[in-house]
Amino acid sequence: MIRTERENRSWTRGRPARKKTFFWTALSFLILSGIGSRAVASAADIRISVSISPQACFVERVAGERAAVHVMIPKGAGPETYEPTPQQLVALADSQIYVKVGAPGFPFEEKYLQTVLGRNRKMTVVDMSAGMTFRKADPHVWTSPSAVRIAAQNICLALATYDPSHRDEYRRNLNAFLREIDDLDRDIRRALAGEKGYNFMVYHPAWGYFADEYGLTQLAIEEEGKPVSAAHIRKMVDLARGKGIRAVLVQKGFDTKSARAIARDIGGEVVETDPLERDWFSGMRTFTTILTQVLRK
Ligand SMILES: [Zn+2]
Repeated sequence: MIRTERENRSWTRGRPARKKTFFWTALSFLILSGIGSRAVASAADIRISVSISPQACFVERVAGERAAVHVMIPKGAGPETYEPTPQQLVALADSQIYVKVGAPGFPFEEKYLQTVLGRNRKMTVVDMSAGMTFRKADPHVWTSPSAVRIAAQNICLALATYDPSHRDEYRRNLNAFLREIDDLDRDIRRALAGEKGYNFMVYHPAWGYFADEYGLTQLAIEEEGKPVSAAHIRKMVDLARGKGIRAVLVQKGFDTKSARAIARDIGGEVVETDPLERDWFSGMRTFTTILTQVLRK
């Protein structure tokens, strides 16, 4: 609804009446021909689908008002195991651009992207991770500000190529986004200044790129999606005791049972984190705060 209103405003804003008439004629034609209101309502936007919600933040920062973003993996779903719904496939078929994470080891993209893209061959596919250095089979590149700088540039290049008439606007937005990332990075470095070399324990290894960037070590309970054995839990308890770890970080959409068992055995606690927050900046700041708290225990 919001989008429809915005579009209507942009059509009434200083446009010649003749164009308006053309618009309404085109609109009735589209409605009569059964294409429906959705396609018309977003006619001025670039419709972009992404895999995970932080990518919506990246695209919106660069595209500003010019994009309507659709996120494939909903909040709270386990991104590794999620399967798209029929409605999502419809939204996807209507997208002009798909920005994929593109990093290795992301089952959702490895399993569904080809099928899904087969439904819309005209869609431009953008790999936001092009040019990044990867950790082995680790798709979670968006937890690293320097990787997100590369993603932002890839997204900007794709938008400028797709819609060259607004190239300068995309570049300005990109520069503002990059400055915002610099501020975030500076704040994280400041917050974690005394924590270099420390270990933190997670159930699902979503924060490896973050750890690398800030000189920390991520110890993961989960091993390539396999069920966690009692022997493995004992090993992780010993490891946690040896490293003085007092907290186990978990994330929505993943099993927390083994994390709770380990936390109980080390007399520590389970702390929830969200590497998929749509407001990426807020997600990164929240994680930094959590980390400073669990590392200082
Ligand atoms: Zn993950």
